[in-house]
Amino acid sequence: MIIVLRPDATEEQIRHIKERLEDLGLAIHVSKGKERTVLGAIGDERVLQELPLAAFPGVEKVVPILKPYKLASREFHSEDTVIHINGVPIGGKKIQVIAGPCAVENREMLLYIAKEIKSEGVSFIRGGAFKPRTSPYTFQGLGLEGLKYLAEAREKTGLLVVTELMDPRDIEMVYEYTDVIQIGARNMQNFRLLTEVGSYDKPVILKRGLSATVKEFLMSAEYIMSKGNHSVILCERGIRTFETYTRNTLDLSAVPLLKQLSHLPVIVDPSHGVGKWDLVTPMARAGVAAGADGILVEVHPDPEKALSDGEQSLKLPVFKEMMRQIRAIAQVMGREL
Ligand code: PEP
Ligand code: MN
Repeated sequence: MIIVLRPDATEEQIRHIKERLEDLGLAIHVSKGKERTVLGAIGDERVLQELPLAAFPGVEKVVPILKPYKLASREFHSEDTVIHINGVPIGGKKIQVIAGPCAVENREMLLYIAKEIKSEGVSFIRGGAFKPRTSPYTFQGLGLEGLKYLAEAREKTGLLVVTELMDPRDIEMVYEYTDVIQIGARNMQNFRLLTEVGSYDKPVILKRGLSATVKEFLMSAEYIMSKGNHSVILCERGIRTFETYTRNTLDLSAVPLLKQLSHLPVIVDPSHGVGKWDLVTPMARAGVAAGADGILVEVHPDPEKALSDGEQSLKLPVFKEMMRQIRAIAQVMGREL
């Protein structure tokens, strides 16, 4: 339920409404816009049946949120959400690029990539220390050692770190070393994991599940937000279709759709979306053109030797050319990069 307050509603009136709603067991989120304040009441709305909210002083109107996802919905928050991560905004005018290897493989390679992407004006380095591999016999990531290399890369370059959390038992450790927690596609509906990251204050990149609908995707964002963590970045990374030439089918229509349905920032991962390095740049361009707030891309100094996802990783010169191209598209879109 959204309670739109009159422009002249007093602090005292707002406090009174908030208290009455909280007494009924609802969680109240106050959003102060430029013109007026709006209250979002989340919880079992049946308790509101007996409460004549519209009669409360200061209330202009009461609007139900019809979507099953409430906090994530555009109805709840009409303006775009900008998430500030150590001063770096995601969701505003500037498009952010998150680049790095699929997995942290060793210290030298990570520090080298960090230096190279930093020189391209990138603010975020990615790299998995815990890898969700299809086969238990392939490289699973360096774990804590990998997290330490990421932290060292941050220390040396000022880049912010994005890394995946797979298991709630590792959350304290990952929390300590990363600036953004990534929830991978395979865990998009791991509700226990979502609930866990929802109760921490670290921004989350939530990747769309391999066969998740947009509604299911937003319901997963809602899980995180319902626990109090509203810093959720949605990532379209391709879905599974009948097509086999590409690893997945990058659903770029999800970008403007998510922007219509939700106020959360939306980024695009063309690397996992297509699975082939020579299709990554065109889809990164398309992602920016579709209105994405960021591009997450896999980069490797020597993809032939990569321990995972070498076939979709960009060599550094290719990455630099991609940056040049998406910068031009960003300009056309009235964005900065
Ligand atoms: C990744 O970004 O490293 C990754 C494993 O992606 P996804 O969860 O989208 O497959
Ligand atoms: Mn990968």
